[in-house]
Amino acid sequence: MNTVSSRIHLVKGDITRMRVDAVVNAANAQLNPGGGVDGAIHRAAGPELFWELKRKHTGCAPGKAVITNGYRLPAKYVIHTVGPVWKDGRHGEDEVLASAYRSSLELALQHDVKSIAFPNIGTGVYKFPKTRAAQIAIETVKNFLKETQADMEVYFVCFDEDNYQIYHQLLHPFNPN
Ligand code: ADP
Repeated sequence: MNTVSSRIHLVKGDITRMRVDAVVNAANAQLNPGGGVDGAIHRAAGPELFWELKRKHTGCAPGKAVITNGYRLPAKYVIHTVGPVWKDGRHGEDEVLASAYRSSLELALQHDVKSIAFPNIGTGVYKFPKTRAAQIAIETVKNFLKETQADMEVYFVCFDEDNYQIYHQLLHPFNPN
């Protein structure tokens, strides 16, 4: 079994292009197509994604996750999770963000997912501070891989340069860009 760190990868770009078993979507609690990464995933997957969501779910609480097929995406599944709306950091935002990552990973494990790509949940319109979000994301993923010994490759896909630099610094502190 490889070490936990060797199963965590950093990618800069568009998550809809990822050839992985599952991509994670930063959805909203109503599971309605929105902007940001959610809009990109719905556009790339096609309308069947929305139909399946609406057929099976009335919504998704912050910190929880639901799974659908990937339709026109290269990914087989989309795991829709809901991050916290940032207020001031004293309303359980850290715990909800960690739970969003953890719920997504648990659902992935249940569906025998061997490779999964995460966007930077919460750091767009929900305004979670980027460095704090990255620390929580990395720690939650590492703990999950350690605890479960899951045979899973995890990709952090950063769309914006800020997030990419932050993840690079945290994951590869001794490698300059
Ligand atoms: P949230 O509501 O959880 O903040 P957003 O979609 O607004 O969700 O933003 C989450 C992150 O997704 C942001 O860092 C944004 O830069 C990133 N993002 C936007 N489009 C894409 C995409 N096509 N692929 C990967 N990440 C994306």
